[in-house]
Amino acid sequence: MEAILDDEFSSIDAFLGAGHVCAIMGYKEYYPLAKKYKIPIVITGFEPLDLVQGIYMAVNQLEKGIYTVENQYARVVKEEGNKAARAVIYQVFEIGDREWRGIGEIPNSGYKLKKEFKDFDAELKFGISHIQVPENPDCIAGKILKGIKKPHQCSQFGKKCTPYNPLGAPMVSSEGACAAYYHFSETTF
Ligand code: SF4
Repeated sequence: MEAILDDEFSSIDAFLGAGHVCAIMGYKEYYPLAKKYKIPIVITGFEPLDLVQGIYMAVNQLEKGIYTVENQYARVVKEEGNKAARAVIYQVFEIGDREWRGIGEIPNSGYKLKKEFKDFDAELKFGISHIQVPENPDCIAGKILKGIKKPHQCSQFGKKCTPYNPLGAPMVSSEGACAAYYHFSETTF
């Protein structure tokens, strides 16, 4: 989120915090982000009404000039998350550098298996750590993530890139911005 917000061209007004992530990780770490960047963060579920309410709560903050963290998904998410699940994660994984599609590598931004679990590390087991998967040069996923461009402003949207043949991450899963535009926009691009 910091990588997105630190871009001087980023035009993100608010975040809907992913409810399934926060169910495990909690959301205490969002408070300093909301304060530092003056941006509402609303932990939100995935049912249509959850999304509508999450958007409403974010807009409500913006209209009142409030920038804080709210939890729309309180029926599932607790502020401290799921401590037992996190204990298992920390037993198996450690923090490491991670490549983010559309953004690039960010130090200490992901998890990797601890040494004692290296027998389960597919990269080591199959010797594939050297394999690089270059991003499609036409894909502007980074700009989509930062709110700089809309999906239909991508030259490949609905042409070479569809949910059946995605060229970038935002077209892969149903909650991706490009896939959502593809499925639900009434405009013919
Ligand atoms: S439409 Fe496809 S190619 Fe364009 S930004 Fe979205 S995922 Fe990338």
